[in-house]
Amino acid sequence: MTKTILFKNRPSGKPETSDFEITQEEDPKPAEGEILLKSLYISVDPYLRGRMRDEESYISPFKLNEPMESNIVAEVIDSRNSNFKKGEFVSGMLQWKELQVSKGTGLNKVDKKLAPLSAFLGVLGLTGLTAYLGIEKIGNLKAGETLVVSGAAGAVGSVVGQIGRLKGCMVVGIAGSDEKVQHIEEKFGFEKGINYNSTNNMRKAIAEICSDGVDVYFDNVGGEILDAVLANINKDARIINCGAISLYNETEVPLGPRQEGILIKKTALMQGFLVRDHAKDFGPALRQLAGWLKEGELQYDETIVEGFENLPEAFIGLFEGKNTGKMVVKV
Ligand code: NAP
Repeated sequence: MTKTILFKNRPSGKPETSDFEITQEEDPKPAEGEILLKSLYISVDPYLRGRMRDEESYISPFKLNEPMESNIVAEVIDSRNSNFKKGEFVSGMLQWKELQVSKGTGLNKVDKKLAPLSAFLGVLGLTGLTAYLGIEKIGNLKAGETLVVSGAAGAVGSVVGQIGRLKGCMVVGIAGSDEKVQHIEEKFGFEKGINYNSTNNMRKAIAEICSDGVDVYFDNVGGEILDAVLANINKDARIINCGAISLYNETEVPLGPRQEGILIKKTALMQGFLVRDHAKDFGPALRQLAGWLKEGELQYDETIVEGFENLPEAFIGLFEGKNTGKMVVKV
């Protein structure tokens, strides 16, 4: 028997484990043209929260009583498809199942020799690509500039900060605990970190640390932290709207200060970014990330939760700051 995790209830506010259900079914068998996949590592990501809402977006909402899905690294354990051999490893959007069949469409083969398999969900997967391409497409970073990144100890943020450092920027990270702040300064070479949970006046704290102002802000969290950074931007600043996790569980989006005046005065560019729109650039971006990893220029963290049935808890943990680096479930 193989386990599946179904989406059972659209949450209002923070998701709970009761919004999911674990079921069992007979092991699937591949038909002609199909492969049988065994899930090894499953990615949990903040954007899955958006798919739990029944509303139109850039990706379709989850349907109730159907399996959850996300990016998964899996092993081909049986193949009736000439494009895949038993023993190969693939990654792609797959269902939260221990075993599943696939026609192979949309799956990429991953090379275990290049990096540990879980890295293909993080630094060599969508979060690494988001960091790299968000900076490339919108950031236009120049050496000597000040780059601020929120969610700085997370999967995207920790890579953003290191790329900023490699490009010669002064990098300041915003994260949710003193441990995370110390970690990004010591391991990833951030110039300075700010713990937003213990800082009363974020606007002032950013002004003090970024004494020359903020040239580029890579926003992973939105809300009040975005407001505090915007109050400190320089002329021609670039703001990359990558994520807004502080708002994902809100039932009503809170109103903030009106920012158009700042954007006009500072002739700033604020642009939304979706990594999926840049698939044609994934190849070169991954080669650059893999190159930096090999040279030791880029480090990465993972928080690996063990056990398929702990997927819902790992996902919910993202909204509680339980991860450092990429949150991944090892099946
Ligand atoms: P992550 O940063 O590894 O994990 C989420 C982190 O968000 C948590 O560890 C927590 O860290 C922080 N957080 C949670 N609630 C918060 C709140 N209320 N206020 C401030 N911070 C909060 O996740 P990720 O996968 O790297 O994603 C980061 C952001 O990028 C998310 O917003 C995600 O939706 C977005 N994203 C966008 C794209 C795209 O194409 N646009 C692609 C991938 C990811 P602390 O302990 O520091 O609070």
